[in-house]
This record gives sequence, C-alpha cells and structure tokens, in this order.
Amino acid sequence: MSKRPAIFIDRDGTLNEEVDHLHRPEEAVLTRAAGQAIATLNAREIPVLIITNQAGIGKGKFGWKDYEAVMHRLGELLSVHRAHIDGAYVCPFHPEAQADYRHEDHPERKPNPGMILRAAEEHGVDLSRSWMIGDKHIDLEAGRNAGCRVALVRTGHGSKVNPALADLVADDLAEAIDRILATWP
Ligand SMILES: [Mg+2]
Repeated sequence: MSKRPAIFIDRDGTLNEEVDHLHRPEEAVLTRAAGQAIATLNAREIPVLIITNQAGIGKGKFGWKDYEAVMHRLGELLSVHRAHIDGAYVCPFHPEAQADYRHEDHPERKPNPGMILRAAEEHGVDLSRSWMIGDKHIDLEAGRNAGCRVALVRTGHGSKVNPALADLVADDLAEAIDRILATWP
C-alpha cells in the first residue's frame, strides 16, 4: 500500500477549546466547525491523528480514566457530524512528573517527534505530505522535527505564538483543514 498524507492534530486548544488541565468530559467543547472539517477528512480517507501531551497524568492531577472519559466525550461530539478520529497518541511524561512518569526529555513528549513518528508508522503515513496543526510552539516544533508542514491556529494559546514559525496560520482548526485541503490535488 502506498503511503498517504495525514493530518496530525493537537488536542487541547486546537481540537477542543482550551481548559486548563481538561479532565471533566462535560467541559469538553469542540472548536468552531471542527466536526464538519474532520468529517471532510474522513470522507477523503485522510487519517486524522491526535497528538497530545498530557503531563497532568504524570503529575497526578488527573488519571487515565479521566483522560479516556474526555476522549470518549470528544468522540461523541464528533459523531454528531459523522466525524471520527483514526488514532490518539498521548504522552504523560514530564521532567517534574511523579516517579514512573518522570523523564527529563522523553522522545514522545512534544516538541520531540516520537508520537508523530509512531502514528505515521502505524497508519502508513507519508510525513513529507502531512501536516501538524496546533496552538503552541511545541506543536509546530514537533511537526517540523517529524518532517511535516505545520499550521498554527489562533485558538487556545495560538495568539501568543510567532506566526513566522508556521507554514500556515488559521483562525481555527476548521479553517486550517480547509486551507490544507486546498493545497492537495
Ligand atoms: Mg494545545
């Protein structure tokens, strides 16, 4: 099977509205038109892969069950638009985390590209034609480190990031996806 491009998406502040240490499913809200935009990717069989640092797990601020509950809720919200994500990659490691999760520079913690590289391997992705979309500098850096093009969204923390670091700057995820689709034949 020939490799295909994918869209890698940061979760908090990009897929869903920013909430500090989001861990309550009822607080999960998709950013504007994210469901419709992801449904378009699904229809074109472009893998949609979530790439998320969750140091709150490593620091003991919330647990895996909370993380799973939020992901389940996001799945429900996407399903309203007949949209789904094809994979979610999560990194709980952090230099100041508790015992098992303490790691000075884990290869999967953004800005390192480990999660993106693993996702690409598992989904047969051509990284050079793929994009990473996020609201933080570390998202852009992780995408670059993996060999992708990178898009900055202005939701979440995005307005604090230097736009010159991105190949594309959009108001939100839906606009970023629309514009990326326009670059693909
Ligand atoms: Mg974010």
